[in-house]
Amino acid sequence: MGSAIAWGLAKAGQRVAVLDEGDIAYRASRGNFALVWVQSKGLGLAPYSAWTMRSSNAWAGFADELEQQTGIDVCFQRPGGFTLSLSQRELEARAGMLERLQSQPGMQRFEYEIVDHARVKGALPQIGPEVAGASYSRFDGHCNSLKLFRALHAGMQQLGVTYLPEQRVESIEHGAGEFRLKTAKGEVRARKIVLAAGIDSVRLGPMVGLHIPVRPQRGQIIVTEKVAPFMNYIVQNLRQTDEGGVMLGDSVEEAGADPTVTTPVISVLADQAVRKFPLLANLNIVRTWAALRVMTQDGFPIYDESASCPGAYSAACHSGVTLAAAHALFLAPQIAAGHLSADDFSPFSARRFDVQAAAA
Ligand SMILES: Cc1cc2nc3c(=O)[nH]c(=O)nc-3n(C[C@H](O)[C@H](O)[C@H](O)COP(=O)(O)OP(=O)(O)OC[C@H]3O[C@@H](n4cnc5c(N)ncnc54)[C@H](O)[C@@H]3O)c2cc1C
Repeated sequence: MGSAIAWGLAKAGQRVAVLDEGDIAYRASRGNFALVWVQSKGLGLAPYSAWTMRSSNAWAGFADELEQQTGIDVCFQRPGGFTLSLSQRELEARAGMLERLQSQPGMQRFEYEIVDHARVKGALPQIGPEVAGASYSRFDGHCNSLKLFRALHAGMQQLGVTYLPEQRVESIEHGAGEFRLKTAKGEVRARKIVLAAGIDSVRLGPMVGLHIPVRPQRGQIIVTEKVAPFMNYIVQNLRQTDEGGVMLGDSVEEAGADPTVTTPVISVLADQAVRKFPLLANLNIVRTWAALRVMTQDGFPIYDESASCPGAYSAACHSGVTLAAAHALFLAPQIAAGHLSADDFSPFSARRFDVQAAAA
């Protein structure tokens, strides 16, 4: 998230420095599932669905621009995505959830379908007999998120961004129109700051009048050996990467800041995947890992500007791959201009949690 915003700020002509931790850091951007996913986003906050669609629509141009600038192909594709159900009941629940999502006030409806086993098999011939059906949306896509991470870093540095690794921000002070960020290597001063420090934003925010209630949420992922392409579409929790491996995932666990892989969870992920695609039973697993999502209280993003410390902004979300295009192309220019427009960003202010607390 920080590198997407930094890239966008530099493109908008700002002088930017990125303060980061070292290689050993909690870093969702190195451990995610790499979906650019639209179909199920926004139940409970219709503007989140529109924001996600806006990013998804901008993704192809964003990927092209990164490739032209850095020579790195981030392998973005938007073939459409299925969420497979392993029972009729699960399929009905999925259909009900998507109908509720699409019927919300203020929703910009988009096309999706609920399809039966035969229709899924037409698109994904390798599915198993237990697949009852699926929801499908043509707007879902994916990329290689490690290449995205690398392209953003290469791109921002080409645009003149100063990257400062091993400079964890310990504290921030504000006065006389500037911020002073204290790290173990010294002090960095700036007139404007963006807090995009993942799960540490909850600690840093109050130092500059920002409320950023995020917590770690663990996700575990499996990747198989490389095989010949057999998927023309993506499946939520199951996708073949540009390099041929099949990623199976990803769990959703409240385990605090513990990024450990656990056998019971991995075995459930593997079992579900084999029921969906029996051919996976013949593949070797080459790697498993866990990473920590940056999760807000209600699962929706937070973007704010500080009222008490003008020039401080917050940005936190759990779908930073999907939203990378929006952060680089739409959020960063507004930060560069010095103001977040209410039309775009007021639904995402953390002030919504104060309203919820007062109503409780
Ligand atoms: C298992 C899993 C699956 C996911 N799947 C998807 C997916 O399919 N699609 C999708 O869109 N998103 C997905 N995500 C989410 C996505 O990875 C993140 O939203 C994205 O990486 C952006 O994260 P971030 O930059 O907010 O946080 P992180 O990547 O965690 O980065 C935080 C950064 O802040 C730095 N930092 C922390 N504290 C400080 C400090 N005090 N001073 C300086 N620097 C600091 C860290 O060093 C780190 O570089 C997934 C995440 C996980 C864990």
